[in-house]
Amino acid sequence: MENQIMGLHHITAIADRAKTNVDFYTKVLGLRLLKKTVNFDDPGTYHFYYGDEKGSAGTILTFFPYEGAGRGSAGTGMATNIAYSVPEGSFDFWVNRFEEHNIIYNKPSQKFGEPYLTFLDPDGLKLELVVPRNGDNRVAWETADVQANVATRGFHGVTLTLKDIKPTAAVLTEIFGYRFLEKSGNRYRYITDAVESAAIIDLVELPNEPRGVGGAGTNHHIAFRVKNEDVLMHFRQKVSGRGLNITEKIDRNYFYSLYFREPGGVLFEIATDNPGFGIDESWDQLGTNLLLPPQYEPHRKEIERILPSIK
Ligand code: ZN
Repeated sequence: MENQIMGLHHITAIADRAKTNVDFYTKVLGLRLLKKTVNFDDPGTYHFYYGDEKGSAGTILTFFPYEGAGRGSAGTGMATNIAYSVPEGSFDFWVNRFEEHNIIYNKPSQKFGEPYLTFLDPDGLKLELVVPRNGDNRVAWETADVQANVATRGFHGVTLTLKDIKPTAAVLTEIFGYRFLEKSGNRYRYITDAVESAAIIDLVELPNEPRGVGGAGTNHHIAFRVKNEDVLMHFRQKVSGRGLNITEKIDRNYFYSLYFREPGGVLFEIATDNPGFGIDESWDQLGTNLLLPPQYEPHRKEIERILPSIK
């Protein structure tokens, strides 16, 4: 396991209004706001991280809220559906909650023998709740409204939509150690045995579907998890050895990262477990302070004035 890709690390998506995003993910969905920081390349924009109590890899969803950006459209070359694991018997709770908060959802259905419930976030990002057939023993983050018997456990998996799944499948199986599990229609399920959860990637093949266009309500990239920087650099060699362009190691404060675009067009990242979300806030305070990287600290006052209120 030490030298492997250990499932998903995080997923990053784009939102429009910051306050709407925070309210939906923390209040309606009941995730923990782990970190409130800024886009390191654009400090006038927030970067929000949501997840479980400690921001465990495989639970982390992050957003860049670009106020007034307008919606993108999901399509090929993109991650198009984020699946969260939930306990058996929780769908009645979630359907009521979605009704109460005017969330668009579909009636529950099944794929690969697993019940799922699809819904849209306020910007139209597609998510689903899944009851995994092999269970899930991760500890949920609880809120007053969303308690452990119904709360999300982190990611079950993610769907990538592609014109042709073969080149992407080759990256997953030949570089990342995933294996083909099963197929249903044009949906091909891949899984890694390195971890028990956040282990699934579904590839959906739609040859005639237009390419996705980035904007609010679309996913920006998905990040795969590795233990540390040694393993990260091991995968850098493997990826570049296949003739794919990959970045240098980038310090993202809470993890170290590499990025490359897989041949199907989806932006892939590989990210480390270290150092984690406890480096600049105590565990009980995660998400309460606006945290800036050192280069922006001298401009804190100005940045705080530009960032929209999320109160
Ligand atoms: Zn990322």
